[in-house]
Amino acid sequence: MTESTKKPMPARLLDGKAIALQIRQEIALEVETLIRDRGIVPCLAAILVGDDPASQVYVRNKEIACEKAGIQSRLFRMPASTTTSELLALLRQLNDDQKIHGILVQLPLPSQIHEREILDAVHPTKDVDAFAPENVGLISQGRPRYLPCTPHGVAQLLGRCGIETVGKEVVVVGRSDIVGKPLVSMFLQRTGPLGSSNANATVTCCHSQSKDLSSITRRADILIVAIGKANFVTADMVRPGAVVIDVGINRLNDGIVGDVDFDQVSQVASAITPVPGGIGPLTIAMLLRNTLTAAQASANG
Ligand code: NAP
Repeated sequence: MTESTKKPMPARLLDGKAIALQIRQEIALEVETLIRDRGIVPCLAAILVGDDPASQVYVRNKEIACEKAGIQSRLFRMPASTTTSELLALLRQLNDDQKIHGILVQLPLPSQIHEREILDAVHPTKDVDAFAPENVGLISQGRPRYLPCTPHGVAQLLGRCGIETVGKEVVVVGRSDIVGKPLVSMFLQRTGPLGSSNANATVTCCHSQSKDLSSITRRADILIVAIGKANFVTADMVRPGAVVIDVGINRLNDGIVGDVDFDQVSQVASAITPVPGGIGPLTIAMLLRNTLTAAQASANG
């Protein structure tokens, strides 16, 4: 085959599942030490309101991951008809329970519940999702108590795959409070979870009102997509050689796909995350990390 007829090299696959396993093993060792030296068993309380099938799967996966890491998990199920005040009453009880270190409210909540009021009611020291205003503020000031799980998973994946963000042009597509905005905030800092090479990026954030999206995404050295639209990012939107991180999870009739058209984009990118098996497993691993951090802080405080 001559040079001109050679097929482009497919991108390196960034295996989130394998990295999540490595992180979970590290956490399990730290949990063992905390139990042995301080007699504290980290405990995560998960609240599941209603019977949304996807939420049930997410919560079950988190329970299994906790168990494997030696972290206790307690599931509080509430009916779909639950009111805001009933949920607030449960949160007060969990906030006061010294044996519970982290509280997770599985989203989405039924429409009659005031989501913001609920998330604000989780005590900031138990807010292992890092959604509380105090924790968001600490992140933006570069002194996080907890890092939000999905953005932290992205940073860990890049760092552990040897992909530096320092000085790079990082483009984030999506500006949700859970994924997009904290990603921007984290990569803008002078230091990241794995040091200064894991932060210090030049960050651009796009959303549904951004004009000429492709011209912005094509600038990216590292393109991170979190919009919730199946196969939205196509090869022409990606600079050849860019690293592409696909946060999206879209359930189609024939399975789960990301926000990036994997078949196309893996032919132009230098590295890409698969869906499933990319950022999803890391999100759970970072939830365990925050629960352990909360339990360690309780031991010292
Ligand atoms: P979200 O709250 O619905 O936010 C979506 C964002 O995408 C919004 O900022 C929206 O812009 C932007 N957007 C929508 N269409 C766009 C378009 N055509 N062009 C540019 N921007 C567009 O979603 P999310 O909670 O961040 O989740 C995003 C995706 O990540 C979903 O698929 C979700 O399931 C997945 N997710 C995965 C994990 C994981 O562990 N892997 C964790 C969390 C979420 P506007 O603000 O202008 O509306």
